[in-house]
Amino acid sequence: MTDIIIVGAGSAGLSAAIYALRAGKSVKVFEANTYGGQIVNTPDIENYPGIKHISGFEFATGLYEQAKDLGAELVYEKVLSIKNEDDKKIVYTSSGEYEAKAVILATGAKNRKLGVEKEDEFVGKGISYCATCDGAFFRNKDVAVQGGGNTALEDAAFLSNYCNKVYVIHRRDEFRGDHKDVETLKAKENVEFVLNSTVIELIGETNLTGIKVINKLTNEVKTLEVSGLFVAIGQEPDNKSFEDVVILDEKGYIKATENCLTNTKGIYTAGDCRTKEVRQLTTAAADGAVAALAAASYIK
Ligand code: NAP
Repeated sequence: MTDIIIVGAGSAGLSAAIYALRAGKSVKVFEANTYGGQIVNTPDIENYPGIKHISGFEFATGLYEQAKDLGAELVYEKVLSIKNEDDKKIVYTSSGEYEAKAVILATGAKNRKLGVEKEDEFVGKGISYCATCDGAFFRNKDVAVQGGGNTALEDAAFLSNYCNKVYVIHRRDEFRGDHKDVETLKAKENVEFVLNSTVIELIGETNLTGIKVINKLTNEVKTLEVSGLFVAIGQEPDNKSFEDVVILDEKGYIKATENCLTNTKGIYTAGDCRTKEVRQLTTAAADGAVAALAAASYIK
């Protein structure tokens, strides 16, 4: 039996692995996709204390290597459900079942969708949720970014280096993301803000050729001829599979105390998947440490 099974190899999960291993516990980390979580798509991290600049990929790779070197076992299987028994937790995956004394859920969050018709159909044909992954396909083209948070602002800055024109569409006239990044974008000649607006229609046969955008104040609808639309309107949790063992809030986040405890003894949660006020890289790493030490202490 493994001491601690961690679900999710993002910043919270890998930080938890490092702390649990250093506390002398055996650790398996389950990941359905690739390690790193959301941060791998951030081109430049500037707000992690002690590191002035680092790419998300480099940061995630550092975490991964640190956890591996300490003895973490990464298992690339999707966790489907968890059963709580008095003295153990049974973790069911796409390929089998595993037992652990404690579990840390660090499932992160997935990209929120716009919810407009043909959105799924156009993924890979104009619609993208990751500018750093797909931006280069739109070199010298006109593109749009919907969103007003840090991700949207960073995406727009990144795309403005490749693309002919970048429209930044936001549903309000104030940005949620950092003021400094807004000012940087304002100074760019090929960036245009389309404020108080949202995308209501995707145009195109096989590939995206344009979008219809409505101004929510005037109800004016205009068409922007773009071949790419980068959707950066935040994330939402993906915890439905764990409803039997942990309580979720109305938005689907795992209810937890600041000590990362869930309602079930021996099951902890860390990072963006749990109820909290601030979802940042620093808070994900901090949660990982707190959850791992709580789990290690529970096992004792
Ligand atoms: P976010 O901060 O939640 O921002 C989402 C944006 O999308 C908001 O501006 C929101 O508008 C808008 N939005 C939400 N639902 C919408 C809808 N249905 N239609 C249109 N617009 C919608 O998400 P994020 O930018 O992905 O950032 C997530 C977290 O990661 C944040 O804490 C952020 O600071 C952090 N982050 C940090 C860095 C960094 O430090 N380098 C980089 C990226 C992200 P409203 O503002 O009107 O609500």
